[in-house]
Amino acid sequence: MSGRSEDEDHRTFMKLALAEAEAALEAGEFPVGCVIVGAGKVVASGQRSNTSGVINELDHAEMVALRRLLAGGFSGAMGEVTVYATMEPCLMCYATLLVNGVRRFVYAYEDAMGGGTSLPLEKLPPLYRDLRPLVVGGILREPSLALFKRFFSSPSCHYLSDTFLARYTLAQGEGEGGPAATTARSHTP
Ligand SMILES: [Zn+2]
Repeated sequence: MSGRSEDEDHRTFMKLALAEAEAALEAGEFPVGCVIVGAGKVVASGQRSNTSGVINELDHAEMVALRRLLAGGFSGAMGEVTVYATMEPCLMCYATLLVNGVRRFVYAYEDAMGGGTSLPLEKLPPLYRDLRPLVVGGILREPSLALFKRFFSSPSCHYLSDTFLARYTLAQGEGEGGPAATTARSHTP
């Protein structure tokens, strides 16, 4: 590509995912944003919706982005795209993206309560057990954490309030990097 490091690319695209998360927060929604990148450009994006009023657990940012990608007739290779999410994908999103062929995941803030990326694929049936997805965490963790702190500090935001995730988030210090800071792993046993 341009010769920039992979880490710089990760930060560039995560900034775009953070913009989606900020837009969600401005709309009173849980601040998760996602962009899907293929061949060096954004091919779909999404933000979390329906976390206020009638709540559902389908419109996660990654699911919104994936639906848009597929509805748009994406013809690239799913195995070549990278999903950038401002929070670690939950089990639903991680599994759905895997089943749809995605093998590269980058996230900002760890989901200490509901993150799904440590799913032990090797213990599952043949469709899954040989998959070796790349998972990179902690890219621009601090600005993502700041959005979640704003959300959980707001008296008008009730989604997931008084949960492990809310307490964990509000207990995080500034600039400490956190347990998932810039870690890369694949699911090799
Ligand atoms: Zn999810």
